[in-house]
Amino acid sequence: MNKVSRILTLPETPRTFGFFVDGEWREGGDLFERASPGHGVAVTRIPKCTVADLDDAVAAARRAFEDRRWSGLSGAERAGVLLRAAAILRQRRDEIAYWEVLENGKPITQALGEIDHCIACFETAAGVARLLHGESFNSLGDKLFGLTLREPIGVVGLITPWNFPFLILCERVPFILASGCALVVKPSEVTSATTLLLAEVLAEAGLPAGVYNVVTGSGRTIGQALTEHPDVDMLSFTGSTAVGQSCVQASAASNFKKLGLELGGKNPIVVFADSNLEDAADAAAFGISFNTGQCCVSSSRLIVEASVADAFEALLAEKMARIRVGDPLDAATQVGAITTEAQNATILGFIDKGRSEGARVVTGGAAVDLGRGSYIAPTLFSGVTRDMAIACDEIFGPVLSSFRFETVEEAVALANDTVYGLAASVWTRDIDKALTVTRRVRAGRFWVNTIMAGGPEMPLGGFKQSGWGREAGMLGVEEYTQVKSVHIETGPRARWIA
Ligand code: NAP
Repeated sequence: MNKVSRILTLPETPRTFGFFVDGEWREGGDLFERASPGHGVAVTRIPKCTVADLDDAVAAARRAFEDRRWSGLSGAERAGVLLRAAAILRQRRDEIAYWEVLENGKPITQALGEIDHCIACFETAAGVARLLHGESFNSLGDKLFGLTLREPIGVVGLITPWNFPFLILCERVPFILASGCALVVKPSEVTSATTLLLAEVLAEAGLPAGVYNVVTGSGRTIGQALTEHPDVDMLSFTGSTAVGQSCVQASAASNFKKLGLELGGKNPIVVFADSNLEDAADAAAFGISFNTGQCCVSSSRLIVEASVADAFEALLAEKMARIRVGDPLDAATQVGAITTEAQNATILGFIDKGRSEGARVVTGGAAVDLGRGSYIAPTLFSGVTRDMAIACDEIFGPVLSSFRFETVEEAVALANDTVYGLAASVWTRDIDKALTVTRRVRAGRFWVNTIMAGGPEMPLGGFKQSGWGREAGMLGVEEYTQVKSVHIETGPRARWIA
């Protein structure tokens, strides 16, 4: 239950944070002041770190990794720290959700649900820490025995975006820690507070100093320096495809650090005429409006069977018009504020483009005026053709583009008509259709008669230009390891020199 336990109000003065290196808090020189996107009121002051601060953090992580204070522990000992962190997060759930809402603008009930998912990530990673293992090869003949060891890759740089600051962090950090790595995190400058709060949680849980470091600041300075850093062994980046491309170049130009990339999406929701149309419409409304559509897995392309398309669009529009857009601190709100002014302008720009390119607004299509903050009504466009910007580009807002199909082949072709391959959803009561679409559409996450469901047991990641690698689950720990092949000879050696 995401019950809000008290009436939430804005802080009287912005809270000033330090940054966290080698187990200690440091004060920032220059500070970045963040205003709550739902209210336009200053809520936090975050250090604008320097590249020298980042170098210190990488050096601290390197020392922590090399002296094996974390990687040398047993899986059971690492699991103990992760489970204690989960218990502390449970106690601090309301407080962390509050700061997430203030900086991001998402509704408080949603933020509370996200913290629950984060707790589950820590508990799942604790299990994986104990189960992580290599393989044995008893198939090399009597004289040779083989093993593979899974070893932590080393110092990991982690760059996270502003749309799910704590959730995306927690879909990575516990799994990285389970592997035995040390890390340096660079959150988005506009949503750094909860990443810093996690440092307190991990320290209290008993994580050794230097294993989790947070350096705040802008992507262009600190983010770029982290991607280029020669002493970082792996970079896990979640964000836009454009910055993902620059990470690839920076990796190649520095030290060929391993990359994990989770990038953009333009995700299809395929609705067949035989599905439960009420359920499918509810899911489509949720899939585009959840987190104001600022969600990498938002289902932003509706692909609906032509025979029911008019009726389905009408049903969906009626549901979307009833979504409660409002103050993120109000427990009744379903859709909160747009997180940044730049993103607000981008979304409204796409809505204008959709209209001017000839698509029809069925519902929404405008900003919502709540007196302060930036809000946009969930928007459905009909009559979208594949050349339009709203058909191809990731809008990252509550804007759904509708397409129609006659055959399963057409549905699959439309679903695959994108450079992205992050997620997809299919709605039908026919198992043949469900399986055909699931097997032929290229996407890393698939939902059949559901949407955005899942848990930290299941891996996350993209096909095509949506990224490389997998986060969460067993694969999400293995991603941060490298495999060493060990060959052991038994018995006398067959000599080379007679
Ligand atoms: P973004 O501009 O790429 O920023 C993501 C992160 O990268 C932020 O921490 C940002 O820092 C930093 N950054 C910016 N420029 C950088 C540079 N030159 N070098 C290194 N780091 C840099 O993306 P966003 O606008 O925050 O997030 C939206 C995008 O993320 C969407 O495309 C969305 O699909 C994608 N996303 C993907 C997933 C997934 O799991 N696949 C999840 C969530 C979001 P600052 O913000 O401080 O500048």
